[in-house]
Amino acid sequence: MSFSKHMRIIAAAAAGVLIMTGCGAKEHDAAFFAMDTYMQVKTYGNEDVSADIEELVRALEDDLSVTDEQSDVYRLDHEGEFGVSDDAYELIGTSLDISRRTDGALDMTVYPVLRAWGFTSSTGYRVPAEDEISSLMEYVDYRRVDISERTVRLPEGFMIDLGATAKGYTGDRICALLAQKDITSAMIDLGGNITALGTKPDGRPWKVAVRCPYEEGYICTLDICNMSVITSGGYERYFEDEDGNEYCHIIDPASGHPVRNGILSVTVAGENGTLCDGLSTAYYVMGAEKAVQKWREYKDHEMIIITDDNYMLVTPGLEDIITVTDDRYTLKVIDDED
Ligand code: ADP
Ligand code: MG
Repeated sequence: MSFSKHMRIIAAAAAGVLIMTGCGAKEHDAAFFAMDTYMQVKTYGNEDVSADIEELVRALEDDLSVTDEQSDVYRLDHEGEFGVSDDAYELIGTSLDISRRTDGALDMTVYPVLRAWGFTSSTGYRVPAEDEISSLMEYVDYRRVDISERTVRLPEGFMIDLGATAKGYTGDRICALLAQKDITSAMIDLGGNITALGTKPDGRPWKVAVRCPYEEGYICTLDICNMSVITSGGYERYFEDEDGNEYCHIIDPASGHPVRNGILSVTVAGENGTLCDGLSTAYYVMGAEKAVQKWREYKDHEMIIITDDNYMLVTPGLEDIITVTDDRYTLKVIDDED
């Protein structure tokens, strides 16, 4: 290589650095409503891929929606057998893996029961009779979902819903699209489900906040790079009966009832958004004690559990990157071992 060519390459690299740090990378903003929530994706770099991002999310929604009559999931639920898209196939497979590792706390077949409580159905919210719940429980068992050769089969009466993992999966797919486009810095916010790609354009970590359950404001912030931070909480969607009893949109597949176990929210952070989303729902179902046991068993993610007696249980890996912003909660670092 001649000397001058070498110099040109160095000069080009230096110019690149200048654009990134000195002048700031160009920000592009995709903002739209999809999957029942407001989504915002900020990317940094020269190319604007906002339209591709929105197109990808809408295509995923068309596959995965449980209410859209054209979607793969709807057709599977109503036809009992369907050759689903690659995305639906992959997400169903991954969600079943998470069901196995959480002993069925995550269970996509809970849908008939969820509907009976009025979630995503046109009947409106209601408290079903116990015998109605127990007869619908016959259709709840993720082990009966048969998935092979691109086709999914359900026993008679079974229906699935991927609401607990779809947004985490969507975050992962957006990251893959951005990688293809050589974009290395982005903030993906899918209705509070966060995936941060790389660092901020200035090289510092992204700062993301975890919401206070039931109230405005934030309970803590995390400084993260290349990580998803996904929260499940009953406060996100619930209804009350005349006596003031609360019923949330996360159902315990063991009982067929909305979860109420002393947890206000579970945040799971890690590299794989689908796993974080599935685990946050499953841990919410399990309760704090079992969730901690499961974390000790796998240790492939971080988590924050907010309890109704004002504790914030945090895995040791978050200690250096968490800032508590609400002093009503006491931070307790979870022990590595029992
Ligand atoms: P959000 O969608 O509010 O971010 P989650 O990721 O926790 O919250 O998913 C909750 C959704 O998952 C519910 O709205 C419902 O569609 C579905 N669901 C409820 N209970 C379960 C369960 N035990 N297993 C799998 N999916 C569930
Ligand atoms: Mg979830």
